[in-house]
Amino acid sequence: MNAELLVKELRREGIQDDSVLEAIAAVPRERFVLKFQKPFAYENRALPIDCGQTISQPYIVALMTEALELQGDESVLEIGTGSGYQTAILSRLARHVTTIERWEELSRQAKERLDGLGIDNVTFRIGDGTEPLDTAEQFDAIIVTAASPDLPEPLRKQLNDPGRIVIPIGGESLQSLKRYRLMNGNWESDSLCDCRFVKLIGKNAWKVSDDH
Ligand code: SAH
Repeated sequence: MNAELLVKELRREGIQDDSVLEAIAAVPRERFVLKFQKPFAYENRALPIDCGQTISQPYIVALMTEALELQGDESVLEIGTGSGYQTAILSRLARHVTTIERWEELSRQAKERLDGLGIDNVTFRIGDGTEPLDTAEQFDAIIVTAASPDLPEPLRKQLNDPGRIVIPIGGESLQSLKRYRLMNGNWESDSLCDCRFVKLIGKNAWKVSDDH
């Protein structure tokens, strides 16, 4: 598999937004996976990364990005930097991305990768993304790339109107990928597909003791 074949497969699976597919074609996923996983970098599946986490399946990355309906001028908040692959995709489709990761090591590696690709519109933060930010920043789109039992309340408050939040919500082994839209003060939500993510661990999600 290579990036071109991967893009064809994603199109076949229903991803329609050309700007999302162009971003997938442009970001070298082999730089975001572990050395011994490089042969599988363009296969449409999640792969293990450091700290017991995973780089998401390209189809899910594309679907979540498409669901954010980015036009190019948005400020985006990502919870769960992980490898930084989803961050790199978002950086091409939005004005600015703030990405939060609870593992310092993963954040450091992700920053190195994005620096290496010349990406300069991303702010990296370390901490619990389910807690309110220590700044008054508001975002046009929020993406959570780890599974949560519910939509953490602080995220609702950090969203601009209009705005979108995409987040997997459900139990430990299966979640539903949800999109919340805020428009003129009204919240609407729809379900995009079933999915399986690593846990969102934090004050307003799963507890550290649930992380096994
Ligand atoms: N988008 C990433 C997915 C990484 S997996 C990629 O494609 O590589 C999800 C990440 O969320 C993990 O790295 C995990 O450590 C992180 N995470 C879990 N709970 C978190 C929290 N409360 N705040 C910030 N990051 C969190």
